[in-house]
Amino acid sequence: MSNVRHILGISGGKDSAALSIYLKTKYPQLKIEYYNSDTGCELQETELLIDRLESYLGSIKRLRAAPDSSENTPFEHFLKAMGGFLPSPQQRWCTKKMKLAEFEKYVGDDLAISYVGIRGDEDRDGYVSTKPNIQAIFPFRQNIWSIDVINKVLHNDNIMQVASIYSELCSNSLLDEILEIVNRPLTKQFYYSKKLNALLDIDIKLFNHMVFRFLQNTEYPVGQLLEDEFPILDNDEILVKDDIFRILRESGVGVPAYYEEIPFEVDGKSGTYCRSRSGCYFCFFQQRIEWVWLLEQHPDLFRKAMSFEKNGYTWIQGETLEELSRPERVRKIKLDIIKKQETARNNHRGTTLVDILGDEIMCANCFI
Ligand code: SF4
Repeated sequence: MSNVRHILGISGGKDSAALSIYLKTKYPQLKIEYYNSDTGCELQETELLIDRLESYLGSIKRLRAAPDSSENTPFEHFLKAMGGFLPSPQQRWCTKKMKLAEFEKYVGDDLAISYVGIRGDEDRDGYVSTKPNIQAIFPFRQNIWSIDVINKVLHNDNIMQVASIYSELCSNSLLDEILEIVNRPLTKQFYYSKKLNALLDIDIKLFNHMVFRFLQNTEYPVGQLLEDEFPILDNDEILVKDDIFRILRESGVGVPAYYEEIPFEVDGKSGTYCRSRSGCYFCFFQQRIEWVWLLEQHPDLFRKAMSFEKNGYTWIQGETLEELSRPERVRKIKLDIIKKQETARNNHRGTTLVDILGDEIMCANCFI
């Protein structure tokens, strides 16, 4: 039995919640440690989801930065230390100090596999950690491996090694087709993702076992496991958004309540709003309609977010929350979203806020 840890971060978002349920149900033999980075600034709907997940999974370790601070929340502690400088997409000190640093402290120097819930219908990689002892794995995707692993395995220098592993693993008629792809060097026309997809399209499980064998000669945490300790190698399911909602509903954990579309009316026209993702209630990634949702659904939290805007620092570039909360401005923001929802309806597209704003995730640590 190896001493590699299996870890999964519960952000309070739907995808990590569904991943934890999926892995626990499908691979109960994996002893996964669940953790949550507690910023003290989550919505009560998020807290409720985490409590329900805890009943389903067993214990979830809460990691809280600055535990000895006299401030009410870790966020207020660091905000004070930063002289009131609010975080922003360009200066995202909040994630670094409240989440990443605590996660890396929690893992320490142990070898760890970190399971990340990026879905099969998303085209991106998630930043998890730059520490070499922590390896990210993406079980919902066709390609479960991170980009650094793929770049290493498919590098032209390793063609012979990959061909030899495939030849050991595969004795059937697929081998010729596989070796033709493996032996074709990467070029500007035949780049990494093309080669990767060509191999995955032939046989996902075989590709995973090839990568696993390759990693056994490296320092990567997965390479230190025995093959039967890592059943994900044989998982060829690809899960997309609808699967995530299905897993949450069928498990009884349920969909986070902040996703519920709430109807509103302006000038006789109807629209709906909600919050499209988890994270701190004041998160600067949220759109103006989500700030209006916060203003009307959680006025106390809106006021609190407003109180952090001092000395010219604002959550939204070029607009204070006081300005955004004025009735005429709220009306305008709501009318804008009603228009977008009407256009989506006319084009037979989804009209929920998640459909309209997209489900793009800017931070693997906060929103998955
Ligand atoms: S949710 Fe938003 S504000 Fe909170 S830590 Fe993440 S990026 Fe920062």
